[in-house]
Formats: sequence, structure tokens, C-alpha cells
Amino acid sequence: MKRLYFDYAATTPTDPEVLKAMQPYFFEKFGNPSSIHSFGQEAKKAVEDSREILAEFMGAKPDEIVFTSGGTESNNFALKGVAYALESKGNHIIISAIEHHAITEAAKFLERQGFKITLVGVDRYGLVNPEDIKKAITDKTILISIMHANNEIGTIQPIAEIGKIAREKGIYFHTDAVQTVGHIPVNVNELNVDLLSLSAHKFYGPKGVGALYIRKGTRINRFLHGGDQEKGRRASTHNTAGIVGLGRAIELCKEKMNEEALIQRGWRDRLIKEISARIPDVFLNGHPSLRLPNNINFSIKYIEGESMILHLDMLGIAVSTGSACTSASLEPSHVLLAIGLSHELAHGSLRITFGRYNTESDIDYLLENLPKVVETLRKMSPLYEKK
Ligand SMILES: *Cc1c(COP(=O)(O)O)cnc(C)c1O
Repeated sequence: MKRLYFDYAATTPTDPEVLKAMQPYFFEKFGNPSSIHSFGQEAKKAVEDSREILAEFMGAKPDEIVFTSGGTESNNFALKGVAYALESKGNHIIISAIEHHAITEAAKFLERQGFKITLVGVDRYGLVNPEDIKKAITDKTILISIMHANNEIGTIQPIAEIGKIAREKGIYFHTDAVQTVGHIPVNVNELNVDLLSLSAHKFYGPKGVGALYIRKGTRINRFLHGGDQEKGRRASTHNTAGIVGLGRAIELCKEKMNEEALIQRGWRDRLIKEISARIPDVFLNGHPSLRLPNNINFSIKYIEGESMILHLDMLGIAVSTGSACTSASLEPSHVLLAIGLSHELAHGSLRITFGRYNTESDIDYLLENLPKVVETLRKMSPLYEKK
């Protein structure tokens, strides 16, 4: 059976070119970048080359990049690192209601340590209103963290505008750009950010490697204690192969990103149009145009996201949902609740995200099968019968 992957927001396959670039760093060039002999220096050069590639790609300077183990670590580092560095200045942090768990859970942790967290709400499209950020600021605010684009509904936030507000007030501004780096243009100066998180496995690089951009002069405490790697900002032996893979993945995105986004926007808008036309009682979640090129999120009334996923999986189609019926919590996604969906609609959500290795015929196959699956499930649904 052919298997089609529509879950690029969860992770992407590693590009074979990336894999090829990484390969030598496991055996031939296995040195520790902190060693001063030639084995070490060879590995160090590879790490520094990747740092330059990444910095140049986002308008940063190489020494403003710290390599980490991924988006989760970068987000924890940004929040906890700034919170503890500025503890004497203030204890208030502002985040949005639709951040990734790597932000919301880090914020909850800080709340238990005595910090105050304000969750700024979003409108029905998932957009943060910069005016609401302005209103939430107090003289104790030390950090604002708003994601660039949401991983569930794809909404792209007015980051540059929020960054301008933060800068005028002298407050540090962090953005979780894990969903945007490698997909749409990301420039730390145009976005007015002081800190920015990214993760390689979301843009065709390997899992377990990412980076935090830290604008020069930003006060931040170290998050991992140990050796003095990354100029004392992040201990632990460099993941050389991973960092090389990240750099190669960035080079490929630089080359392909604009063209891919154009194609994907076409698929996105076609899917939105045709799903809305072919299936009754479906609602698009997220903003119609201020959204990631590769993201679609629908709530499909009268059925459960989980059962749609399982039925589509039997047809070889992999998608995702914001429903959490079979997981430990019965609560649906906090993102879907924050945009005002009822529990029923939130449980009926379906996220389709595509990427580099999809083709037009994958989209056709999905469009052919999704309405059938919905019809089958609705026929079995007590909610639908009562309609
Ligand atoms: C995937 C993701 C993360 C977590 O990144 P990891 O590298 O998997 O830890 C954080 N934020 C967003 C928006 C994501 O999509």
C-alpha cells in the first residue's frame, strides 16, 4: 500500500543531501570540537561553518547563535535563562494563550518559582492583537514570548509589530520560530526579536538539534551547567553531525524555500476550497491568508479527529488532530479552545500539513478519500443522526 505523509508540522523527513553531509562526522571526522588537536579542529570548523550559514540566513551574527538539542530546549533556555538573569529587575512574563507546550509548561514552572505569567488571548483566527500585549505590560515585565506561527492552526503573528512595542519599552522579546524557519522568510532584525528558537527536524534536518538566537548584549543565564562550550552559554559536547545537518538543511531551504512555499500555498488553497465544497459542516481553523503555506486545519462536525486519523491511516494517509481522546487528558487542544471552539468542534479537528516530498497526486488522493471517510464515520455517529 502506498503511504502518504501529511504531518510535516510534527516532523519532516531528513533530506538525503543532509544525511550525506552528516555521514563523515560519525566515523572519519568524529573529533570533539573542544579538542585542540587536528581531529577536534576539523569538527570545530564544521560546527563554525554551520553557525555562519545559519546566522547569515536569519540576518544574525555567528556569535549570536547557540546550538541546542532542539526547539524544546531553546524555548526553555530563553524563558528560564532570561527570567533568572533579570530576576532583580522584575518578575512578569507575557506569553500568548496558543504557545507550544515547550513555552506554556516552562512558564508554568516559572510561575511555581514565583514569577507572574500573563496569557494574552487571541481572536477567532488565532491572531494576537499587539494592543493587548501593550496593555499587559507592567513595570515588572521582563520578557514577552509570542510564537511566529502556530503549529496547529498555522496562523502567522504580527511579530515585527509586537517586537517594536517590546523594544520601545526596553523589554526582551522572544519568538518560537520552530514552524517558520526554512519555510517562510525569518530575519531577526526585520522581526525585532532579541531571542528566537528553531529546530532542525522541522525543516528537513535531523531530530535532536536546534538553536537559540540571542541578540548581542541580551542578559541570559546558562541553562545547562557543565563545560564551557558555546562560549559558556550551553554546556555539553557539540552534536557535530546534527549541527552539520542543520547547516546543510538551511542551505537547501535557502535554495528551495520560496518555490516550495509557492507550490504549497497553491495546494493549501485548493484543499481549503475543495474540502469546503465537498464536505458539508466543515469549518476552517486559523487565518485564511496569514497562515503557513503548508498548513490546513479543519473542524469536521459530528465526528472525532481520532477516528478520522485511524480511518485515514488505514488508507495510508497520515494526518493529525487537536483531539486528545485516547491520550491521558480528555481536554482537546488549548489552541483550539483559545480560538473559541466548542469541545465538540475541537475534538473534530483535522490538521493536514505537507512539504517537500508531497506531489500534486498526493493531494488528489487525499481529496478523493477524505470525503468518503467523513461520510462513513458520520453514518456511524450518534451526533450526526440526531442532527
Ligand atoms: C516542534 C515544535 C517545538 C519543539 O521542538 P523540538 O525540536 O521537537 O523540541 C516547539 N515549538 C513549536 C512551534 C514546534 O512546532
